[in-house]
Amino acid sequence: NLSQQVSGIDQLGEWDKKYYLHPTTVPKTFSDNGPKIIFTEGNGIRVKDAKGDTYIDGVSMLWNVNLGHGQKELADAAYEQMTTLAYGSSFYGYSNEPAIRLAEKVVSIAPGDLSAIYFTSGGSESNDTAFKLARFYWHLKGRKGKKKIISITNSYHGATVAAGTATGIDAFHNFAGSRDIDILNAKAHLTNCELGDKSDPNYEGCIRDTIEKEGSEAIAAVIMEPVQGAGGIHIAPDGYLKAVKDLCEENDILFIMDEVICGFGRTGKIFGSDNWDIVPDLMSVAKGITSGYSQLGGVLMSEEIRNTLVQYDQILGHGFTYSGHPTACAVGLKNLEIIERDKIVENAKNMEKELKKGFKYLEDNHANVAKSRALGLISAFELQADRDADLPFDKSIRAAAIVAEECYKRKLILRTADFEEGKNIVAIAPPLITKKEDVEE
Ligand code: PLP
Repeated sequence: NLSQQVSGIDQLGEWDKKYYLHPTTVPKTFSDNGPKIIFTEGNGIRVKDAKGDTYIDGVSMLWNVNLGHGQKELADAAYEQMTTLAYGSSFYGYSNEPAIRLAEKVVSIAPGDLSAIYFTSGGSESNDTAFKLARFYWHLKGRKGKKKIISITNSYHGATVAAGTATGIDAFHNFAGSRDIDILNAKAHLTNCELGDKSDPNYEGCIRDTIEKEGSEAIAAVIMEPVQGAGGIHIAPDGYLKAVKDLCEENDILFIMDEVICGFGRTGKIFGSDNWDIVPDLMSVAKGITSGYSQLGGVLMSEEIRNTLVQYDQILGHGFTYSGHPTACAVGLKNLEIIERDKIVENAKNMEKELKKGFKYLEDNHANVAKSRALGLISAFELQADRDADLPFDKSIRAAAIVAEECYKRKLILRTADFEEGKNIVAIAPPLITKKEDVEE
């Protein structure tokens, strides 16, 4: 009997190894070593573990705990809603007040003519929903061949079959059965080949080239993150997203912006798209909509898509039990209220400057630190064997992992992106309540 052999933290560790198969974790390492940290408490930008150690949460857990840990107001909103009406269905003509109010609120802050939202329980469901709605929109328009979705290199869109297939990071496809048909990973690297310069060395396989080869009558949508997160904090150069949006318009292709990380303040604007005044046709959100206090996502859609869909007079056979979950939506509403009241988006923008000062300090003092970048509170730096010669470390040296491990020993949780050969990227994306003193620390 396991429970009699071990006690306390050891017992939890043993049970974890034995009974709990973890997401996005190496199963063998985990079953040999068990959990690195068992989180027990959180307060502001800090979290405590079962051993009593306190860490700075330098990545807002999974870039989602935007208001930081231990926000009592969010807990109170959940408590109040749960004790009033914890759950109510949105299927078959039913609705509930928090979902209605949150839909109105999100639409009111969304860019351009994004005019309605479909609720889900997270980012992957949002992207799958966006793909289905894009395909269905073209079906309703009588253009039934427009089905394929184009995503790009280094993108992360989720773990379900469709969103997982769209994910353009090879490491997420290293096990069997992860790819779906009809979703194309274009070899686009955020260069301006999308403007049509065929002499650009990146032209072959870019989005424009893929559309030309497939024919626009086969393509329903292009999906992209405003800033690529898991793939390595890649910020598109000015003009890139506009070029892709124009390309989509020229070819009657819908543009899906995956704002799952960037939405609700992460980049120092309410939405990542706002940094370049882009209005997509469909916009996926999740994470920051509740700051991770409840599971919620959604897909915003243009007026044109909304007006087309509402003409359909049969059942729209697509729904999640937790679509429009009253408790999740009540938490989302309170979260957006706090973001406005406490000027959280402005704070993220101000902290960008502090992070950049910190990066400059690192670059001035460490010859291996290179290519730092930040947009609001999503940021990264890279490690190179020779910065001046732009030379990467040998691939046997996992420099980013070494730095993250040393930071972890010093009680700072960071995240690495070393999917691309020779790339050693360290990501920093703390909660949006982070202060100047925290950045300095
Ligand atoms: N899209 C982006 C940009 C993400 O970063 C993530 C998760 O990290 C997802 C989608 C998937 O969201 P979820 O894990 O909530 O399904």
